Amino acid sequence: MREWPNSYFCPLCYRNLETAQHLFSECAESRRIWAEVSSWVGSPGLDPTNWNATDTLMDWFHGLAGDSSSTLAAGSRSLAILVTWSIWKERNARVFNNAEKTVARLVEEIKDEARLWCQAGAKRLAALVVNPSSE
Ligand SMILES: [Zn+2]
Repeated sequence: MREWPNSYFCPLCYRNLETAQHLFSECAESRRIWAEVSSWVGSPGLDPTNWNATDTLMDWFHGLAGDSSSTLAAGSRSLAILVTWSIWKERNARVFNNAEKTVARLVEEIKDEARLWCQAGAKRLAALVVNPSSE
């Protein structure tokens, strides 16, 4: 496992050693984000309570939405990329800028970003994401 500088402990929960596997899939803070996003779009694969133990981060990531070419699976994969990217950005903000957002705030930003991706043409993601103008 790669060792990252400046963060012996996970910058999200401050409890566990920081590894990629912990940061993205095991951290209690990250799991709260995944759970919220899962219930937002109704995609059970993104809900941590449905995850199986995996040996590698790659296996974990593939398990989130599978390899199906269905629209919803493809949309879930796009959303999974957005969530991991958001967790990584938050990790870096905490490590390098000493700035910290709440889980609720992060989830709102993920929703906003997902809507932007839809407006930019992410059709399969749009099949998952509720259009805010219709809410
Ligand atoms: Zn953590």
